[in-house]
Amino acid sequence: MAEKCGLCGEYAARYVCESCGRNVCENCFDPQRWVCTDCLSKIVGRMGQPTETSVGYPQKRLLLLFFTGFLIVFIGMALMIMSSLLSGTGSVSGGAVIFIGPIPILLGSGPFSLQVFILAIVLTVIGVIFFVRDKRR
Ligand SMILES: [Zn+2]
Ligand SMILES: [Zn+2]
Repeated sequence: MAEKCGLCGEYAARYVCESCGRNVCENCFDPQRWVCTDCLSKIVGRMGQPTETSVGYPQKRLLLLFFTGFLIVFIGMALMIMSSLLSGTGSVSGGAVIFIGPIPILLGSGPFSLQVFILAIVLTVIGVIFFVRDKRR
């Protein structure tokens, strides 16, 4: 005769809980975690909430990083246009810095002036600071 479930005592025990070692029936057993329902309630209670909620977190962080990068690019473009207008040389050199993580990619059209290059370096430094701060948090 088969052994009865250690939890409900009604059905035949077909599984052994990995946590407490009790023989339990399929009604009192969670095959995904391989523990009995008694131990499952303890595990869930200890963790506070299911683990599924934290899955989307790194993607959101990456999106924020990209958004910050694009914001820096827009500010940089505005500064470049302003500086070329203020200098009054008439030669507008277009350029952009795109960040992929901490790595800046320089895009330039027309004469790549020293101003733009310095600005690119400054933006790189700002980008790296942003990235490091983001990682520490
Ligand atoms: Zn049972
Ligand atoms: Zn158990």
